[in-house]
Amino acid sequence: MHSDRYATPSFQGLRTTLRPPRAVVVFKGDGDWLSHAAQAIYECGRVWGGSGFILIPHHNGSVLPALVRLAAAFDPDYVLNAQTTIGQHEAIYPGDLRVNRDNGEMMVGEQRTNALRHSFETRIPDPAARAARDLIANACTPHRYMIPQPDGSEEAHEQLHVLSLSDDRFGGHQPLSRAPVAMGGETRLAAGVPGDIQGLWGLAAAVHFGLCEPPALPFADASPVSFEVAKSVMRRALPSRRRSVTFSSEGAAWNSAWAMSESGTVRVQPWQASRKHNLVVVGRSADDFALAQGWHVQFGNSYWIPEQPPIAKKVADQLLWGLGQDMLSETEYRDRKAVLTSATLDEKQLQAIADGWVEKRVRVFTSWVDDDGETVTDQEDEKDPPAPRVMSPDGLDFTEGGVLVVRDQYDVPLALPATTDEHGQIELLVDLPPLAPAHPDLDSISEVTWQIDVDTADFKGPRMRGTPPHILQHGENAREFFVRSSRNGLSCYSASWGLILAGSTRTQAMAKPRLQFPSVITWTGAMAAANGFSTRFSPAGQRVEILRRLWGGRLDLMRAWSGPLRPVLLAFHTNKKRTSDAFPAHDGVVLQTPDAYLSFAGMARLYGAVDQAIAVELRGQVDHLCALGVLRRGLILRCGSCLVFNFITVDDLRSTNACHRCGAANPMSHERWGIPLDEPTWWYDLHPAARELLAADAGVGLLAADYLRRKGRAYDDVSELEFLRGNDPVAEADLLAVVDGRIILGEAKATPKLGTRSERAAKARKLATIATAVRADELLLCTTSASEWSTADIAAITDALGGAIPNVAMRPLIRTITRLGSTPVEG
Ligand SMILES: [Zn+2]
Repeated sequence: MHSDRYATPSFQGLRTTLRPPRAVVVFKGDGDWLSHAAQAIYECGRVWGGSGFILIPHHNGSVLPALVRLAAAFDPDYVLNAQTTIGQHEAIYPGDLRVNRDNGEMMVGEQRTNALRHSFETRIPDPAARAARDLIANACTPHRYMIPQPDGSEEAHEQLHVLSLSDDRFGGHQPLSRAPVAMGGETRLAAGVPGDIQGLWGLAAAVHFGLCEPPALPFADASPVSFEVAKSVMRRALPSRRRSVTFSSEGAAWNSAWAMSESGTVRVQPWQASRKHNLVVVGRSADDFALAQGWHVQFGNSYWIPEQPPIAKKVADQLLWGLGQDMLSETEYRDRKAVLTSATLDEKQLQAIADGWVEKRVRVFTSWVDDDGETVTDQEDEKDPPAPRVMSPDGLDFTEGGVLVVRDQYDVPLALPATTDEHGQIELLVDLPPLAPAHPDLDSISEVTWQIDVDTADFKGPRMRGTPPHILQHGENAREFFVRSSRNGLSCYSASWGLILAGSTRTQAMAKPRLQFPSVITWTGAMAAANGFSTRFSPAGQRVEILRRLWGGRLDLMRAWSGPLRPVLLAFHTNKKRTSDAFPAHDGVVLQTPDAYLSFAGMARLYGAVDQAIAVELRGQVDHLCALGVLRRGLILRCGSCLVFNFITVDDLRSTNACHRCGAANPMSHERWGIPLDEPTWWYDLHPAARELLAADAGVGLLAADYLRRKGRAYDDVSELEFLRGNDPVAEADLLAVVDGRIILGEAKATPKLGTRSERAAKARKLATIATAVRADELLLCTTSASEWSTADIAAITDALGGAIPNVAMRPLIRTITRLGSTPVEG
């Protein structure tokens, strides 16, 4: 929750991290996909930080929805196409390329070969791959820049589309830096999966070790090497107990080819990552490979079992069991859940494999011989390992993965002067100082560029989701720097895009953006604008704004309307005409329905002040609310002339008071206040904006907000925001909450109904419109009522979301809550 510190400059605590770029590399998942994947792994290894890239296959332009979610959670700086040259294509698919003479006749034989040879390095354009790349980029938030259009609008463009090290369009700097080259004699750094180990298992090993030589194309389906070699590679490539990549037994021959790509870096993980389960992916498709590779990069504990016999069926089975057994033991050891998944096998088939592992575990142990030729005998623990859980890729949670960062330069504290406005927007008042990696291993990269993550725990607003970059910076030079909203706060590309004069120092050429962490309101406005809408507070929203200012902050407002004070506030509103009906115990007075006035004794009963301590607590709250102007203390005096009741505040009281209605002068006397006999009772009035809220929906939206706030560590929100197209309101968000980074669009109602049949469809479409614009994770239907939301309402919303968001992976969940304010029940 923002602190409503208003715009007073203070020092803002920040954490900065330097890291190599993160990229998603899109490769061809059909045809001879093994060759494309192997080539992409090799290319990644040549890029600094490339071991941390994830590889995602496309099938004629489309992408498995779970992999789109993986890409979005991974949060790439760049989404890149892996490119295939004519030479590579010819090697993978000999004779496939059609070469024509000028007269249109097709070339054949040696003539064709010679013609092709001249353009072997030329990259083959692939519109389907580009479409898949765009699809993934739209689900992510890569670096973008805006180009003004003739009609005054702006068009977003991305900085980089292709996995390539030779593109120098950007003034000598390029986002991808070449990985350092191994120094002479250091052969231990120049190893990877040996070229003679190919096939699916070879690719599985390459995920862990990389490829230091260009793979032979085509990359063979199966490896011709012996079982002993294959086994040795697999055992190392899919390590469980021995996770280290340092091998001593066979000298210098083995080390990770990724080592060069990881120069000067270290992998760090958020604490949540340590609770991620082991993922075992079974299946031989490119999608299966990508699930395992992506999980490996994010969490480091994945196994890919392509089910392809390296030599013979029996050996494959043995490997499968052995790996499964490793996985089970690992689970037990680390107390993690194991999950078995597949993009190609159904859950029944997976369950059969899982059952087989548990059943045959003894046999596996006794029949397994480890690398050194010794029989594995560690059967000492008698406890049965837990059976792995079977899950479809759609159920996997890809968030909170590890990140490759520059060694010794991550999570470094920095304090800069900043202002925080009343909605929680943080604006830094100075430029980001130049921050450069200092690790000596990076000295050999001539034009190294990097990414700078800047974050603060005070920034609780939305991240990623294609946030328009212009709201992340202010200051005159904003167009010169690339800043994007990332899972690590704001991520900046290290090089300035502005004019860099020849002879500039490295520091001068570095990006120095003036950063801004947007409030939920600013963010929602920008997301709406990107979808052709504008936003403003609805009349209800303006009312909540008045109340927020009255209460001095949204947190206090929420607490008041959802805590023990709620029954007190609710009692200011009544449907009863007569005071004796509304307040038989004389707790309040009804002057004109629905407006009631309460005494302190009445409030104490409603508050549940059963003892002195609680009464004292309430007394403090009531006095505080009087000071804020939420409550007003006064007397209720009856005019002696026209007999109407007047509420007169303590500020206006005199010995003789004029009647509000007839103006008659009424001396203060017992007849004017009635009971009690001795002295008049103080009554309390509620601010009109609060009375309006009571009349509207009694603050269901605030109840929902408070409920969500309690569920998360970091919370921020905005309520009652109207979306307009032109001047026409088209939809309204009751509540837009950010709970631990998840965006929840709340529809709050006292009665759980979207309306009549035609109203229902229209309302569902409106909700879908907003959910699409803000890329909501959840659509939450909340009510104070005990009755359930109707299935027809939920079906209407499901339909509307399906129509608005074609990509299944991007559709928000629909959830319901009933009995808000008493004992909430989630549906
Ligand atoms: Zn009067």
